[in-house]
Amino acid sequence: MFGFKRNTIEKIDTTGRPLSAHVASSKIMASHIDKIYTSGKKQTVAIENASVDIQDNDFCCIVGPSGCGKSTLLRMLAGLDFPSKGNIIINDRKVTGPGPDRGMVFQTYTLFPWMSVEDNIKFGLKIKKMDEAKQQEIADRYLNLIGLSKFAKSYPKELSGGMKQRVAIARALANQPEVLLMDEPFGALDPHTKSVMQLLMREIWEKEHPTVVFITHDIEEAVFLANKIYVMSARPGRVIKEIQVHLPHKRGLELKDTPEFIQLRKSINEMLYSSEPKE
Ligand code: ADP
Repeated sequence: MFGFKRNTIEKIDTTGRPLSAHVASSKIMASHIDKIYTSGKKQTVAIENASVDIQDNDFCCIVGPSGCGKSTLLRMLAGLDFPSKGNIIINDRKVTGPGPDRGMVFQTYTLFPWMSVEDNIKFGLKIKKMDEAKQQEIADRYLNLIGLSKFAKSYPKELSGGMKQRVAIARALANQPEVLLMDEPFGALDPHTKSVMQLLMREIWEKEHPTVVFITHDIEEAVFLANKIYVMSARPGRVIKEIQVHLPHKRGLELKDTPEFIQLRKSINEMLYSSEPKE
């Protein structure tokens, strides 16, 4: 259904509307990014001529096979690494390093083990020297949002993997970042917990409308979560497709069995197969 051309980004919209019909301002612009890693005489082209344009309140998933440069791209958005060529602009400013405007959630659990759940969520607020009552109000709000109010005084070792990731999401959101950057956050979870977390993530997005950049190699996860998907090819990572997803805003797990969902999942799968280097 969707043709594929090497080295170009095709823009498609699942309603068939031209993309020019969408009027929105860019929150994140990465233009013609190359990333080359050098180690001794060896050079690895991790990313080649990749561009993304993400609007305020987008839930954007970047999907592609392992090793295609997704984490590299996300790290560059976070300011933890830098392009070899091209610029990254967030909120009209060039990214020159990490900043509190970007919250991160990683696949590995990153909570402070010596702090309670509540104190983990308050961590960034304490650093900002926010007054104690306001910190508590924000922590309570996000504990409620992630459904863990009863675990406020628990420690990370008392939580399951899914619960730890809920707290990591709450901690990132509590700082009111401009952008939430998520690096395969549910990749280590069992399939059931992963589905529950996907539902929770959509629910959070419905309520708070954060601008999210979420990377995953799981096509089904990307289609379920995103309003916009960038598809990356196998290494060197190129952005080969930009897709506007017009599935319903309110999403339940039954959506995964609908013809629209299955069609989009299959077409992304085909794009990834046809981008694999041939022998
Ligand atoms: P993905 O997240 O899609 O799995 P990565 O961004 O982790 O991919 O990696 C993209 C490519 O860049 C891979 O080939 C990886 O081996 C390489 N790479 C990543 N980080 C480094 C590094 N610090 N030094 C050298 N090569 C790296």
